[in-house]
Amino acid sequence: MEVRVRYAPSPTGLQHIGGVRTALFNYFFARAKGGKFILRVEDTDRERYSDQSLQDLYDTLDWLGIKWDEGPVVGGPHTPYVQSERLEIYQEYAKKLVDMGKAYYCYCTPERLDALRKKQEEEKSPVQGYDRHCRNLTQEERAELEKQGIRPVIRLKVPTEGSTTFHDILMGDITRENKDISPDPVLLKSDGYPTYHLANVIDDHMMGITHIMRAQEWIPSGPLHIILYQAFGWEPPVYCHLPMVMGKEVDPVTGEVHFAKLSKRHGSTSVRDFRAKGYLPEALLNYVSLVGWSYDGEKEFFTREELEKVFNLESINKAPGVFDYQKLDWFNGQYIRMKTDEELADLLMPYMVNAGILKETEKQRLLAFVPGVKDRLVLLSDVVTMCEFLKDQGKPAVQLLIPKKMDAQSTLKALELTYAFVKKGFAEKMTDQQLQDGLCALAAENGFKNAAMFNPLRTAVTGLQVSPPPFSCIRLMGEQEAFRRIERAIDVLKEEA
Ligand code: GLU
Ligand code: ZN
Repeated sequence: MEVRVRYAPSPTGLQHIGGVRTALFNYFFARAKGGKFILRVEDTDRERYSDQSLQDLYDTLDWLGIKWDEGPVVGGPHTPYVQSERLEIYQEYAKKLVDMGKAYYCYCTPERLDALRKKQEEEKSPVQGYDRHCRNLTQEERAELEKQGIRPVIRLKVPTEGSTTFHDILMGDITRENKDISPDPVLLKSDGYPTYHLANVIDDHMMGITHIMRAQEWIPSGPLHIILYQAFGWEPPVYCHLPMVMGKEVDPVTGEVHFAKLSKRHGSTSVRDFRAKGYLPEALLNYVSLVGWSYDGEKEFFTREELEKVFNLESINKAPGVFDYQKLDWFNGQYIRMKTDEELADLLMPYMVNAGILKETEKQRLLAFVPGVKDRLVLLSDVVTMCEFLKDQGKPAVQLLIPKKMDAQSTLKALELTYAFVKKGFAEKMTDQQLQDGLCALAAENGFKNAAMFNPLRTAVTGLQVSPPPFSCIRLMGEQEAFRRIERAIDVLKEEA
């Protein structure tokens, strides 16, 4: 049997790390089994729906390189894949349930339901929810209500006795007493829109979904869905509810560690945020796949193509996965180092342009700078802070120019030698390595330590004590500006010497 799985988000916000993890697990499982990955847009909650979230869904999957085999945009044998375009299907199937005696029309007004809710609250009634008032209306009573022009909803008849069990391949059998299941939930609203339960079950069945992998927070809906499958006489798919993605909190006072569902309190949660900060899709995809899944407990680096081959359900963890921001940072740094200078320059360029540091046409300057910062970047956006030195700090303070155990006189000599050499080196188009080696040789010839050459040069060029390597800085800022700053530092030293 062909494996068919789906990611079925409701476009009501930005794609969250937890949702993306669900998408990835489904996608990788489909690929590993040679099956199909389906994207279905569950947009029946019209109040919370937004076009922007739908666009964000597409952008996120595109950015991660996740292609769906069937779904919106690409189409497929079960078109349409957007629930708001399938209303007639849900209406038809809801009516079928009524005809089969598995569901019924309810004419209760919002006022009646409100009053009921209040009464239950006041009486602290053990039964909460709908009182099944319309379940046994006679034909005549119904006809009368119809005549009054009341547009009914359709409710599911949930059995009042017995229990319902569904099997989850991670959690085992999950059983609920039927009397504890929501009493006769609405399947079809009076405006003709389905509720989540109805649309979800019909679509999973019609689209031939074989395995449902979704967040554990949907477990409580499981028994209800089973009752729906039974009502239709359909075989339910295999369930695999995924362990939650948690964030870690450390109490600042007691130092105690807590875990809670990952939320903004812990850090970024939307993929769009991660992307804006300069995480690479490879790093995010790789790390997120390891939240609640592992290959052999050892191997950590996986390309998308590898995961498409090795992902399996057996290795999904039963315990909640903890989203470790530091570990993601580490992955990001590693993936940055795997880029060629050229690729990295392309990735960094938008950050430089947005920050107003470079113009679109100045990529060559960035390319010359990249080797100096590649090993230090954690996020792509870090490059902007690393360019702090471009801002002219003014004349450097003389104490900052003079290395330890040296005086103005000797520093002046060292910087003059350095400057002459660097100028010549740049004129001769020496590489960073040649410049570095040459400057070390020059230090030795003149009885200076290396630091005597490099430290004043750094301070002169950048005005800072900590910066990317000075040659990289010179290449980015341009020789003219760099040499002007060195000459200025030489003047400062001359005044003091
Ligand atoms: N639309 C639901 C969601 O937003 C889908 C849940 C499911 O996968 O059944 O998560
Ligand atoms: Zn009713």
